[in-house]
Amino acid sequence: MISVTDLTSYIYCPRKLFLKLVMKYKEPPKNVTVLGILKHEMFDRINKNEELIVTSINKPMPTEEIEILYRKNYADMLIGTLRNMKRQILSVNLSPPEVFNETWDFFLEEAELRAINLSNFIDENNLFGKDLWEALIPKILSEVKIVSEKLGLVGRLDKIEIENENYRPVDLKTGSPPKSDIWQDQKIQLSAYALLIEEKFDTNVDYGYIEYLKTREKRRLYINPFMKENVKILINEVNNLIKANKLPDKIENINKCNYCGLRAECYKLN
Ligand code: SF4
Repeated sequence: MISVTDLTSYIYCPRKLFLKLVMKYKEPPKNVTVLGILKHEMFDRINKNEELIVTSINKPMPTEEIEILYRKNYADMLIGTLRNMKRQILSVNLSPPEVFNETWDFFLEEAELRAINLSNFIDENNLFGKDLWEALIPKILSEVKIVSEKLGLVGRLDKIEIENENYRPVDLKTGSPPKSDIWQDQKIQLSAYALLIEEKFDTNVDYGYIEYLKTREKRRLYINPFMKENVKILINEVNNLIKANKLPDKIENINKCNYCGLRAECYKLN
């Protein structure tokens, strides 16, 4: 069974995917990857704790107090996440306090944004506790693993937003967004998640989102049948690559090689 990440690795470079999947080479960890994983872990915790924060508000509260609630929660979550990731953090020569200092401002901003949104919603609807939580949409499922035997594909979705029984995949990205639209490999990724959701929840997914954390932008992608078909073609190509058991040639785009964590190993091979 191949994963959605294998599809995007294949688009990046079929040879690199072969080195990883068939020849079992492992990329050394990078700072940026570890910080990316930390943000994903934190957002998983943030989404899962949102209900607890919202239902704890049982009376009118100034926005600043709501923000303090979020801040306290996020500080505890960040400390817990850093504790869990200590080995990974040390492996890239960083320390947990350094990472705390580097990322805390970002989560403070998230706390402020969520507090303002929630406070506005309370002002408009005058709801509290469980009623407030029930009224908030969309509902979010976080870190959802979906396996499809039919497609031979597995994926772990950062988020699924559910609004009026419509399911939308949301993928969080820590890298920079393109000037407009969405990067091509991310379109494939979102289309693959759409296929997985459709099978698991017996529904139709016509759009999803990429959330660029760096710029706090959420860009919508309409997913047409052609894009879903393209995913099936790619699954087929990856399976053929594995079956053929032959190391593909190097790619011509030297820029990609410069960023590749397996460059040294790759260049030693014919
Ligand atoms: S160095 Fe270049 S050709 Fe080799 S695996 Fe990496 S991206 Fe592919």
